[in-house]
Amino acid sequence: MRNPTLPEELTVQVELPTIMPRSKRRPSVLRTEAQQAVESDPEIPNLTEAELIERIQHLRKERNAIILAHNYQLPIIQDLADFVGDSLQLSQQAAKTDAPLIVFCGVHFMAETAAILCPDKKVLIPDPEAGCSLAATITAEEVRQWKQQHLDGVVVAYVNTDADVKAEADYCCTSSNAVKVVQAIPEDKEILFLPDMFLGLYVQRMTGRKIHLWMGECHVHAGFRAEDIVNAMHAYPDADLLLHPECGCVSQCMFALAEGDLPQERTFVHSTGGMVRHVRDSSAPIHLVATEVGMLHRLKKEAPQKQFIPVKGDAICEYMKTITLPKLYRSLRDEVYEVRVPEEIAQRARRAIDRMLEVV
Ligand code: SF4
Repeated sequence: MRNPTLPEELTVQVELPTIMPRSKRRPSVLRTEAQQAVESDPEIPNLTEAELIERIQHLRKERNAIILAHNYQLPIIQDLADFVGDSLQLSQQAAKTDAPLIVFCGVHFMAETAAILCPDKKVLIPDPEAGCSLAATITAEEVRQWKQQHLDGVVVAYVNTDADVKAEADYCCTSSNAVKVVQAIPEDKEILFLPDMFLGLYVQRMTGRKIHLWMGECHVHAGFRAEDIVNAMHAYPDADLLLHPECGCVSQCMFALAEGDLPQERTFVHSTGGMVRHVRDSSAPIHLVATEVGMLHRLKKEAPQKQFIPVKGDAICEYMKTITLPKLYRSLRDEVYEVRVPEEIAQRARRAIDRMLEVV
């Protein structure tokens, strides 16, 4: 059967992005303030892992807190969370929880999104320096300048952006609904898609729409190469391939599919939430996973009888991994670090996020 996630016809013409590549600004997490705080804490360095877990369990009940964790979090954090999911699912969980306190184990822009959606709740992140190389590729001022060049353009911002960038957008999207969001915009509108150029190229191919792309990329996903994928597929002929649309090789893989170098019926482009659904339903015994390696823990829990193989074993997001057990404990104990978004920015960003949630 044909893979429904791929377009009927793959054109081999790629429309090049309309602006020049930009320099990359990667936040540093070498030695964060939160890390120093747990190391110099009078209590935390003396606790065993089991004691930390016991205290976290006690505090979450006492404070009536909910712990949300992204699919790329460390296994021990995922195992403690009330809910594990992709950006969209975590936003939805944050929006519907009754808990007055949300501890967000993910990167900063995700916790900001939760704070925007839940102005009446306290949102904590265990390490506020958990940034994102992709979000760091664009500022609100750069969006304003870009809009000046396309006055009728509709701005679609991938959720991997800071709150003040979202505030400049008309719509937000995640990798699981980007295609639907773009399809919901009237055909005669120009679209400015930011900040991930690979996701934007993928959306352009799937929708056939002309899209102006911001040349941002995630350093983890940009490292995937099409030849690694093709080689892995040849090594595991019974495997399904799960490919995240942020990966730098998605366009090349689509060419490889068109050329017959990759099997259409075993190749699937999915958000991390889509990957979870896929492994639940697929009969394939082996899955090759092309995204951040934290995803494998989640997939193994969903389908323990199946085998999961990372296409790139060193695809590790250091920002996601800054959230550790000692920091999670300190976050609950001391109620740090609270994530707040100024109301004027939150209001405008909320409009773009709400529009996205309406399209889901
Ligand atoms: S994996 Fe990439 S996009 Fe995701 S948080 Fe890390 S740097 Fe950002």
